[in-house]
Parts: sequence; C-alpha cells; structure tokens
Amino acid sequence: MCVKQRKLLWLRQHRRCVYCRREIAYHAATIDHVVPRSMGGRGGSNLVVACETCNSTKGSLPHSEFVNRFAELAKARADAKLQRRISRNRRRLAWSIALWLHKQEALYFEEQLEKLRAFRAERAEIHH
Ligand SMILES: [Zn+2]
Repeated sequence: MCVKQRKLLWLRQHRRCVYCRREIAYHAATIDHVVPRSMGGRGGSNLVVACETCNSTKGSLPHSEFVNRFAELAKARADAKLQRRISRNRRRLAWSIALWLHKQEALYFEEQLEKLRAFRAERAEIHH
C-alpha cells in the first residue's frame, strides 16, 4: 500500500480508528485487514485504518471473538448516542415550557397592570 492510499484511507475515516473511533495521528495509524488474509480477506474494501491498541488486540484474539467484541462496542456507542439524543430533547422541552410560563407570567402582569391603570384613571376622575 502506497503512502497516498494510506493517507486517503485515514482521511476517509475522519482520522479515526475504525474500531474504537478514537482520533489517531497519521503516523500512529496502522492498516488493518478486516478479514485476515489467512481467512481469505482480499481487496481494498478489506483495508481499514486502526489505532495500534485495537490492531494488536485484534491480532491477539481469534477473529470471531474480536468481531463479537466490536459488535458490542458498536452497540454501546449507539446506545450512548440515543441517550444523548433523549437528554437533548428533554432540555429542549424544559426550555420551551420555561418560555411558555414566562409568556403567561408576562401576560398576567400586563393584565394586572392594565387593571391598575384603569383603577387609577377611575379614581382620578372621581377626585376631579
Ligand atoms: Zn482503536
């Protein structure tokens, strides 16, 4: 694999390890065969950029075990994403309720102020 291909792959993955999603410096990026060559993995689409930790973990584990582990990791990441989305929506809802209450309060005060003005005007008329 030439330097240009390597760099393209790294950029295509947004400078992140395909397995742990951590950002990796270009010089620390390693090229990994998703399906090991010994298991028939061939071609450009079988090549990914991984950090050294993931690559060596992958190398030390049987392929199926690493795949399971990766699937679990991906699921945990998806769950975390969902949790963040839920809490974001909750904040948005709290904010719109606060705005609504503020508006109601403002309307109420305006109403009271109007009543007070009317009352004062009435009193002024009586006294004159
Ligand atoms: Zn990694």
